[in-house]
Amino acid sequence: MFTNHMVSSVWDGSDGWQPSELVPLAPIPMHPGMLGVHYAQVIFEGLKAHRQEDDSIAVFRPWENALRFQRSARRLAMPELPTEMFIEAIERLVAADESWLPAGNDELSLYIRPIMYGSESNLMLRPSREYRFLTVAFLAGGFFGNLPAPLSVWVSRTHSRAMPGGTGDVKCAANYGPSFMAQQEAAAAGCQQVMWLDSEERRWVEEMGGMNLFLVRGEGPDAELVTPELTGTLLPGVTRDSLLALATLMGYKTRQERISIDRLRADCESGVVTEMFACGTAAVVTPIGRLRDEKSAWTVGDGQAGPTTMALRDRLVNVQHGRSPGPDGWLHPVRVPGTVR
Ligand SMILES: *Cc1c(COP(=O)(O)O)cnc(C)c1O
Repeated sequence: MFTNHMVSSVWDGSDGWQPSELVPLAPIPMHPGMLGVHYAQVIFEGLKAHRQEDDSIAVFRPWENALRFQRSARRLAMPELPTEMFIEAIERLVAADESWLPAGNDELSLYIRPIMYGSESNLMLRPSREYRFLTVAFLAGGFFGNLPAPLSVWVSRTHSRAMPGGTGDVKCAANYGPSFMAQQEAAAAGCQQVMWLDSEERRWVEEMGGMNLFLVRGEGPDAELVTPELTGTLLPGVTRDSLLALATLMGYKTRQERISIDRLRADCESGVVTEMFACGTAAVVTPIGRLRDEKSAWTVGDGQAGPTTMALRDRLVNVQHGRSPGPDGWLHPVRVPGTVR
């Protein structure tokens, strides 16, 4: 369910970024020779606005997404969008469409999708000389249902998502289409998600198609939260970063390290790894119950959502809704004209 508006702005080499416009959501005419579509000069972001306890609305850590959007643009030889324009587009769209977001419902949020693409009609193999920046939003429920059932995850041994020197650490459209085949393999094996290994040794756990990964070693207050380190071939998620910070505030130890798939399996079987979960803006925190590949299948813990996973999920959701304190600057309030708050 997309909301009613979009925010649009264009860039060209002589005038730079033009002021953005709030317009009704509508299809966009496209020249068949639009460079961005032919050569995948397309980047995007994903972030959420949440209704707060006092009925106001706040966007979660939008500056992080603005900076990542700039990194993605640089990697694709596109012009960087000023962070202020990125934030302003979100503010205008959320203010216009805030009535979509009901009060008192934790599971609904506005998912905001900024996108930028090379819009010049030209098939020369070079960067586009015109770009369009658009922001749309839709009402999102819990990505995997409201009470997240543990995921079954397919370990892909044949396909690769990212390579050293490639684009795995930025959010460009070209990273996703090539992953759909592995996603179909996963579905055929009864799994909901793909776990990607590094493309060189096919040994190191990286992430999932649109989510980062965590595992829990041990339990209770001594539990340790572990996530693959940022090697340049996985996406530095804002949720990943937020959970590392919140876990520390909650008194857990955290580690970022390389995790081999063989060790992960052995540690699940011996009980050293007690829980695993996926995290991202869309998925929030979603437990992982089972893993499998062509030859084997194994369970994480008892296959159910674990207590550390759910404690982190609750803390994150509470921070996003302004119910429990998070680090300064994580919540960006959106002023809705005509309301006094
Ligand atoms: C967007 C994305 C994530 C999660 O990032 P968040 O900023 O937490 O939403 C993880 N992996 C991939 C491949 C992604 O595209």
